[in-house]
Formats: sequence, structure tokens, C-alpha cells
Amino acid sequence: MPSDGAPPLERFRRYLGDQELPATPQRLAVAEAVCQAAGHVSVEDVAERVRERGVAVGTATIYRTLDLLVRSGLVRAYDFGEGFRRFALAERGGPWGRYVCTSCGRTDEFSNDRLERVIGLLAEEVAFRPHHHRLEVYGLCRACQQEHPLTHAR
Ligand SMILES: [Zn+2]
Repeated sequence: MPSDGAPPLERFRRYLGDQELPATPQRLAVAEAVCQAAGHVSVEDVAERVRERGVAVGTATIYRTLDLLVRSGLVRAYDFGEGFRRFALAERGGPWGRYVCTSCGRTDEFSNDRLERVIGLLAEEVAFRPHHHRLEVYGLCRACQQEHPLTHAR
């Protein structure tokens, strides 16, 4: 979904309308919880935030709403190798780099605003104008570390 300047929640409402799905308070509360979070939130984080707002939302609804948010393009799902997904507003910055496991080949994307700023500053120092960049970090994913505790990343 292209960003047209409308607030994310409003765009989600519109997406629901396009899909002929009702914009229930539960769906909006889940969307709001993700939109207002500063970082990448887990399903548990979302559940807690929604609870704090006093809206009763079942876990299944949270999962389904997160899927809707991802499908709408507003929110991106991330896998940081923790065994569960995290969610963040897509416009907060897309996946920025990748962790590549040299043992099983698994890749996980990550993004980091501070790193992004540092890249910009470094480029500025040499009057280089970057338009995109990619970063790959090689090592062992969590599962492979547990499987081969003595193997070191090359
Ligand atoms: Zn691995």
C-alpha cells in the first residue's frame, strides 16, 4: 500500500474497507498497538498494550489482525531468530541488513536507525551520496549455536 500521508491507522481502516472487513475496535486496537510502538513488538507485547487500553482481544484475533496488517503493507513482520515474529510499521524503515547463518543458510533481516544514520554520516565525510546499501553479517543462528556449541563462525 503506498503511503499517501494519511496516518497508518486511517490507512488500515481503508484497507479493511477495501477488503470488506469491519473495522472492529479489536482490530483497530491491535493496529494502534503496533503503530505506536517504538520498536519491533511481539504478539505478547501487542497483547499487553491492548490490555492496557482496556480492550479485550483474544490471541487468535491478534494473530489474524497482525496478518492483515502485514498483508496491507502497513506493517512488516521480522524474524530475529527468537522463535517468534516481531512486527513494526513498514515506514519505520525496511529491512536494512541480513544475518546469514553459515551453518544452515538461514537468513534474518534486521533494521537499525542508528546504523542507518552512521552510514549517512560516513558517506557525507567523503562527499558520497548513497542511494541504498546492504549489510550481511555472517555467523551462526541461535539454533545452530545450540546444536554445535563449539563451532565458531568463520
Ligand atoms: Zn543456522
